[in-house]
Amino acid sequence: MTYLADSHCHLNSLSLKGKAASSLQGIVARAQSVGVTHMLCVACTPAEYAPMRQAVEPYPGIYTACGVHPLNLEEAPDWQEDELISILQDDRAVALGETGLDYHYAPESRQQQLSSFARQIDLALELKKPLIIHARNAHQDTVSLMRAGNARDVGGVMHCFCDEVEMARQCLDLGFYISFSGIVTFKAGENVREVARYVPLDRMLVETDCPYLAPVPVRGVENEPAFVRYTLEFLAALKGVEAKKLAQLTACNFASLFGIDLDAACLPYLDKQGSQTAGEPLNSYKLEKIQCPL
Ligand SMILES: [Zn+2]
Ligand SMILES: [Zn+2]
Repeated sequence: MTYLADSHCHLNSLSLKGKAASSLQGIVARAQSVGVTHMLCVACTPAEYAPMRQAVEPYPGIYTACGVHPLNLEEAPDWQEDELISILQDDRAVALGETGLDYHYAPESRQQQLSSFARQIDLALELKKPLIIHARNAHQDTVSLMRAGNARDVGGVMHCFCDEVEMARQCLDLGFYISFSGIVTFKAGENVREVARYVPLDRMLVETDCPYLAPVPVRGVENEPAFVRYTLEFLAALKGVEAKKLAQLTACNFASLFGIDLDAACLPYLDKQGSQTAGEPLNSYKLEKIQCPL
């Protein structure tokens, strides 16, 4: 069986109106029809978690995470450890995040971001949950806090990586995985391609970060988990491995990082007509291009 995991998505931020199958069900079905078996759906504030969790309840194979995103600190300036502790008791919740530092969009809140990130690293260690880290234009501070907080004890992922090889090297040294989004397919993404050439296959993840950053050839439309396969195919070509093999490898990385048993809960394969093929989800995995449904 072949698995394919979208290691980072925001299903709750997708606009569910005006689409062919105008619901989360349709989005999940499109992902399933191209072989996506697992997803990690990420909440950016504690308040976002409960409705998101409720929406993904019908889909075993969709896991969850919650943290306080550096760009959402205005909505949750007084977030409390207790809130995240109780959320992360949930059996679907496999990681703390996303957390981190973003000096690209919010350089003015640097101090607040640093303190929030440091507290979340401490909490991840207390809860023994891996971290999902968002870092933009904040290389030195991010790595310094990861080192100072012993983030290597729980590990985690640098999601939607868009920094330089040197930062990737330092994060790999701290035991972290590197996750690639559609940016790797963009014309202006040469620095990310350089990182992708550098990162070993056993430390690589693939993600949509939807609804943002749809990969080429669907760039510009609202992103959704089905499109993770374009990024996967692009990376496979870049690394000189078969896409099917890279799907399997990145899914195994996803499983070992988040402590997931891939067989135990996955989205069953649905063919284009929506019929479920029980037991052998992805034997029919083919690498033809899917039609953009949007
Ligand atoms: Zn992010
Ligand atoms: Zn995100």
